[in-house]
Amino acid sequence: MRLLHGRYHDKFKSMELGEARLVLKKGGDLYLNVVFRQTIMLPEISADAKIIAIDINENAIVYGNDDFIEKFETNEGIIRTRYFLKRRRIQSKIRGRGLRARLLGKYRGRKWRRIREIYYKVAKEVIGKAREVGATVIVMEDLKRLNEEDKGSRELNGRIHRWSYRRFQQILEYQAKFHGLNVKYVEPAYTSSLCPICGDELEESSNGRRLRKCRRCGLEEDRDAIAVKNLTKRYYEECMDAKTP
Ligand SMILES: [Zn+2]
Repeated sequence: MRLLHGRYHDKFKSMELGEARLVLKKGGDLYLNVVFRQTIMLPEISADAKIIAIDINENAIVYGNDDFIEKFETNEGIIRTRYFLKRRRIQSKIRGRGLRARLLGKYRGRKWRRIREIYYKVAKEVIGKAREVGATVIVMEDLKRLNEEDKGSRELNGRIHRWSYRRFQQILEYQAKFHGLNVKYVEPAYTSSLCPICGDELEESSNGRRLRKCRRCGLEEDRDAIAVKNLTKRYYEECMDAKTP
C-alpha cells in the first residue's frame, strides 16, 4: 500500500482543519481525506456595488458592465460537435457492446474535462477582471426563473446548453466566493431581445447576424453585449425593488 499526498496542500495551509478519513481505493492506494474550512466575509449585494454580469452562449462567454465588455471564445459548440461525430462513428463501427460502451464513456469524460478546463479558465479571468475594476458582485441569469416559453427560445436553446450553463455557474460561484466576491442571480427573460437603454423590443440588424438594433433610441450592438447590459440593469433594478417593499 502507498500513502499518497494531495497536490494542492499549499492552498489549504491557512485554513481551519476539519474531520479526516482514510479511504482505500481500488489497487490498494490509501488516501487521507481531510476537510478544510475557511470562513469568507462576502461583500453586500447592494445598489452601490460595482458588478460584473455574465452571459453565456454556445461558443462564447461574454462579461462586463456598462463600462466594458469582454468576450472569451470557448468554442464549446465546436467541441460538442466534434465529440458528437466521434460518438456516431463509434456507434456505427464498433460491434462489441462492452467495448463500445467503454469508448463512449471515455470520450464523454474527455469532452467534459475539456469543457470544464475552459470554464475554470473563464472563471479565473472574470475574477481577475473583477479585482482590476473593483467589482464586488458577479451577476448571472437565474435559470430557475425561466418559464417554458423562455426555455424554447433562441437564447438558451437545448437542454444540454442549459445544463452546461448551470455547471459553469456553479464553478464560477464557488471560485468567486472563494475569492471574496458575492454572486447574485437575476431575472433571465428576454435579456437579449429588449433594449437595455429604453426597454423597447429589439430588431435584427441588417449590418450583421449577431447585431440587434433599437428603433426607438437608435442603439445598435452585439446581442451578447446587450445581454450583459440588461443583466447589469436588472441587478440594480432588483436591488432597488428589494429596498422598497
Ligand atoms: Zn432603445
